[in-house]
This record gives sequence, structure tokens and C-alpha cells, in this order.
Amino acid sequence: MTTTTYEHLAVPPPGERLTMEPPPQYLAGIINITNRCNLSCSHCYLYADGNPSDQNDQIPDEELLAEVERIRDRHGLTAMVWQGGEPMIRWRLLERAVKLFARNTITTNGTIPLRDFGPTVTYVVSLDGPQDLNDELRGAGVYAKARATIEAAPRDFGPTIQVQCVVTKANQHRVHELVEDLADSRVDGMTFSFYCPNKGERPPIAWADAREREQALDIVLDLKDRHPGFIWNARRALDLMRAPTAKLVTDRCPAVRTVIPLYVENRRIVTPLCCHGNNVDCDRCGTWVAFAHAAKMPGPWDEILPPETPYGFLAEMVTETALPRLRSEHERATA
Ligand code: SF4
Ligand code: SF4
Repeated sequence: MTTTTYEHLAVPPPGERLTMEPPPQYLAGIINITNRCNLSCSHCYLYADGNPSDQNDQIPDEELLAEVERIRDRHGLTAMVWQGGEPMIRWRLLERAVKLFARNTITTNGTIPLRDFGPTVTYVVSLDGPQDLNDELRGAGVYAKARATIEAAPRDFGPTIQVQCVVTKANQHRVHELVEDLADSRVDGMTFSFYCPNKGERPPIAWADAREREQALDIVLDLKDRHPGFIWNARRALDLMRAPTAKLVTDRCPAVRTVIPLYVENRRIVTPLCCHGNNVDCDRCGTWVAFAHAAKMPGPWDEILPPETPYGFLAEMVTETALPRLRSEHERATA
């Protein structure tokens, strides 16, 4: 029997990533450009204990842009996810910031108008179930407001509009209502992420473990069968969330190796464990990015769920061979 090592999945120590030499290289960054938000969702991880999230802590525009540019060049980033708080509170900063990257994602709660920052941008609007369930978590009237924001985008709008839904134990049996509402709308496609609680927390919306979560996976897989072009989660990524492979993925979380998370604390950029912060329970993680990236790269999960097709660019990226190509594409796009 051969022993396989997975050195490409080695995780740089979170607190040291911004100073390590040589600098670890990542595919993308994910940055909270503001800790402020105009909502106060009950399931928000940003304001959980242990995360840097002082709402008054903000880096001024020029300083933030210069620092992001420096981090981009140091860590080889070709894409950035802009989030908060609510990033559209700082839309004038975003208008300039998206020019630093060939690909940009802006994660928004949809209550502030979307701006046409061009085709390099994907807006990811958060909607967590049909109207009543979404508004229970996000506040009264938020669903209608976000739907109106989406429908206000003109037909020639440059950015892609995606909806992301966090599936929970509370909304799993009604997420089909959300899909039915959005399938013929201005939304280009949607993804599902699965609720990830903080360590030690047992809220009613969380599953006890990956086995209990499988019923929600079956629901989403069934929706994907019915709306294959509209639901963008990869089937392999969803299958990897099942109990036999979930912990193999989260114990060597690919997202920590491919995406550098950037929070703001005391007017400085710092790196928490992952985009969910410092206190998250990896054993119950169903975050889209962790499993989407695992689906595209070799790992110990292959022994249980062998890939149907050869690995592509993410596998190349983590072995560094794709980075020069990605960087030259990025340079051309941002010239
Ligand atoms: S919109 Fe996002 S950042 Fe704001 S409170 Fe809700 S989950 Fe948190
Ligand atoms: S919470 Fe999920 S995405 Fe974050 S480090 Fe843990 S396994 Fe990875």
C-alpha cells in the first residue's frame, strides 16, 4: 500500500501569513473593507466573539487601496472577494478597488443599489430562504428590498448577479421556494453554502454533525437536478460534504491554502483563521469555498470519492504551475 502525502494542502499559520518569508501564494483574497453593516442578522459570524469587528474600525480609502495592492503583489492574488459588514456602504472605494484585480466578487446583503463596475465583477447577494424565513434571520422587509435591488439592474448591466443562500436546519425544507422565485428573475445563477456555527454553539438552525446535514444535501442535490444551469454548486463539492468525506476536507481545509482572509483590526489588516473568523467550528463547516476547492484538487478524500475527471487548474495552482499563467492574465486584464 502506498502512502500519499498532501503537502499542497499544508496550511500556513494564520497569524503569520502576512509576514512569512517566502510569502505564501494564494489564488484570491477575501477582505472585510468595513466592519459596519446596515443589518444585524441573527446568524452573522462577523460579530461573533473573538473576531475583529469593531464597527468604528476602518482604514481610509487611500491607505486601504495601497495596502491591498501590496498584499496582492506579495501573495500573487489574481482575484478578490470584497465583503464586510456591508461593502456597498463604501461603494466609492469599491469603484476604484475592483480595478486592482482581473476578477472581483462583491458579497452584499442587497439593500444598497448595485453599481455597474463592469464585467470583472460578480455580485453575490445573500438571501437565506423564502421571504418569511429570510426576514426572520435578516430583518423585516430585507427580502423584498434585496429582490427589488436585483430587479433594478438594467439588462445591459456589466456584472454577473448571483444569489447565495445559507442552508440551515430551519430553511432546508423550503429552499426550493427561493429557487422557484429566482429561477426566472434577473439573477444569473445561485449557490448554496451550509450553515457553519461557532465552536461550542448549538443554535436550533445548526445540524448536530455532517451526518444529520445529509438530508439538506439531498434536497440541494435534487434542486440541482431540476435546475442544473441555475444552481452553480458542483455536484462533487456537494457530495464531499457527506459524512464519510466532510472531515477529511475540513481537517486540511483547502480554502485556507487557496484564499487569504483579511480582516481589519486597529486600523490594520490582519489574517484570521479563515473568512469566517477565528472561532468557527471547522468540524461542522459547510462553507461553499472549502468544498468547491476540495472538489478541484487532490486530497485524501479521493480514496472515498475518486474524481470522475482529471484535476484542473486549482490542482495546478496549489502546485504553483498555474500561477504564472494566472498572473499574466491578471496583468493583461488590469493594464
Ligand atoms: S448582512 Fe452580512 S455582515 Fe451584515 S449583519 Fe447580516 S450577515 Fe452580518
Ligand atoms: S470554517 Fe470551514 S472554511 Fe473556515 S477554516 Fe474551517 S473548514 Fe475551512
